[in-house]
Amino acid sequence: MEPPTKGIGLFRSVVTCQCPSCRRANLFSDARHYHLTTLFDMPDRCPNCGQDFIIEPGFYLGALWVSYPIVIALELIFIAISLFVFKQTLTVSFIVASFMLLLLSPVLIRVSRSLFIHINVGFKR
Ligand SMILES: [Zn+2]
Repeated sequence: MEPPTKGIGLFRSVVTCQCPSCRRANLFSDARHYHLTTLFDMPDRCPNCGQDFIIEPGFYLGALWVSYPIVIALELIFIAISLFVFKQTLTVSFIVASFMLLLLSPVLIRVSRSLFIHINVGFKR
């Protein structure tokens, strides 16, 4: 009998948006983050282990609470880089940081959803 192979690590599973239960299938129907028409499309269940991805109606509203500190941290990092590395004014730094967050928003939305379901669903071997 073949030994069970280990799933990928928790951090990698969150960042690459894998199923929290088996870490072997994508949470989203389309793996491309910047294909905006399918940004929110998720299968109802994991095609590998059957884990329910839509745990309750409005489940992913909780991802807003997860994304908030991530966005604040990234905004501060972008502003600091702009201020101290590129020696820009605070106004320019804020505009640049906001633009960077706008560009990253599809990735942030998906990673926040992924982190939120990973918080609520444990890894099962
Ligand atoms: Zn799974």
